[in-house]
Amino acid sequence: MHRSLLSISDLSDEDISQLLELSRVFFEVNAREIPKVPALRGKTVATLFYENSTRTRLSFELAASRLSADVLTFTLASSSVSKGESLRDTAETIEALGADLIVMRHSSSGSVQLVDSWLEVPLINAGDGAHEHPTQALLDAVTLMHEFESGNRLDGLNIAIVGDILHSRVARSNVQLMTRLGATVTLVGPPALLPADLSLWPVKVSNFLDDVLSECDVVYVLRIQTERISESLMPSLSEFSKSFALNSARLSRAKKDAVVMHPGPIIRGVEISGDVADSHQSLIRKQVKNGISVRMAALYWLLGADKGRLETLW
Ligand code: ASP
Repeated sequence: MHRSLLSISDLSDEDISQLLELSRVFFEVNAREIPKVPALRGKTVATLFYENSTRTRLSFELAASRLSADVLTFTLASSSVSKGESLRDTAETIEALGADLIVMRHSSSGSVQLVDSWLEVPLINAGDGAHEHPTQALLDAVTLMHEFESGNRLDGLNIAIVGDILHSRVARSNVQLMTRLGATVTLVGPPALLPADLSLWPVKVSNFLDDVLSECDVVYVLRIQTERISESLMPSLSEFSKSFALNSARLSRAKKDAVVMHPGPIIRGVEISGDVADSHQSLIRKQVKNGISVRMAALYWLLGADKGRLETLW
């Protein structure tokens, strides 16, 4: 049985520690004048994205090339999918071309698990529907650990995740990882954008952002996933913004050193104001930058030859 990185729930505490530890190694590599190592020379990493992406795809491709792997890029628009090729045939073709690992994104929850069951090579889930996006959660945790200098833990942090929780894979992965690492998470949004049954989620819940801000160390803002929302579910955007958009007046009510996060893409003026996104409290750019090291860690974790002797590899 090969190993893949499909969800936070699949990871043991030991796996999480190894990924965090490897991320530190690759931060050091990325700080070098020439941020490239031969660790995955001769390996081929394929990106198979059935849904649009800017940050995730580019950072995986950059991560692979900084590890000296070859990169195969599948682009939906110019692929044979438009001629009717099935998901299974496309994935098996990429494997037959010699990919050693596939990074996959798809709009259907569970699709990456399905492809993983068909293939011999490891897969990384780069987002499947509203289900999971594990490397986003890992890079968010690493970003907070740097910011709060909290080692490999997030103990004591109060984190509000705000907005469209219902359709968010980022929220699902982050709730699991942040709470396992010791943080307290409060989900905040209008009832229509919260899952109906949250009884099994290890979180607090509120429908009023203004009520929870004063407790927040971290305000994690989500985009409204319009691509996954049917008309009727959607309160009007301006109504949503009035109560939930993070603007500077609201942010001033959070703790003094509170930080703002967002997985991107940000829609200025809807869930976050431009001045908050660009403020010194915003970690949005740091999240993007840290994604490269974390994705190098994920690729190396699954494909690297000898995890115990990292230093001998470069
Ligand atoms: N980039 C994130 C994702 O792929 C969040 C978003 O699209 O809003 O899930």
